[in-house]
Amino acid sequence: MSDTCSHTKFVIPPPSIPSVAVKGIDARFPVRRIFCVGRNYAAHAREMGRDPDREPPFFFLKPSDTVLDSGVSVPYPPQTKNFHYEIELVVAIGVGGWDIPIERALNHVYGYAVGIDLTRRDLQLAAREQGRPWDWGKGFDLSAPCAPLQTVAQIGHPGNGRIWLAVNGAVKQDSDLSELIWGVPEIISCISQSMTLAPGDLIMTGTPAGVGPIVVGDRVTGGIDGLGEIDITIT
Ligand code: MN
Repeated sequence: MSDTCSHTKFVIPPPSIPSVAVKGIDARFPVRRIFCVGRNYAAHAREMGRDPDREPPFFFLKPSDTVLDSGVSVPYPPQTKNFHYEIELVVAIGVGGWDIPIERALNHVYGYAVGIDLTRRDLQLAAREQGRPWDWGKGFDLSAPCAPLQTVAQIGHPGNGRIWLAVNGAVKQDSDLSELIWGVPEIISCISQSMTLAPGDLIMTGTPAGVGPIVVGDRVTGGIDGLGEIDITIT
């Protein structure tokens, strides 16, 4: 094995490695990329003005350094007047691969977490209508809060369970993982047919219906049965 890496000199200090906590383990999960699935619950597809028929899943990405831990304050982002929450099941890839068959896809999972796909909805929809990329609506600073991962060894593979989000205690999203249009094995297989998955990749699997705006001072909580909860405050 080459030792080129350890001898690489950088002209500026290299960036730190983004990471998420792992429940019960005194080490963190390094984040390589964040894949996100669009419109993966039928009722949410309808509320976004789209047909929920099983068209192939589509994806977008957030930069890896948009992740942040649960329990922190999130500054209201610039250039939006319609800042939205989206509660999501997050999948952490522990074993890489390409062209992964559906029936073997779960072997690539390290663990799962509760995350929020924070969205500048006005920028996303304007981009959508103009056929432009979603990056400005989805991939801005601190847009991917993520609660501690729980490992497959700890909890197995959650195929169902309540997924919910509340703003200041009022429940806004309330669904079940069994409502996912494309399940975790299908999503992993689908991504891996197009890009090589690698350890450290996260996948945000889509949000159920009930998305809506949040403002400064709001406390956003959410959870997935068996997977814990997430809690952020907008400041
Ligand atoms: Mn989303």
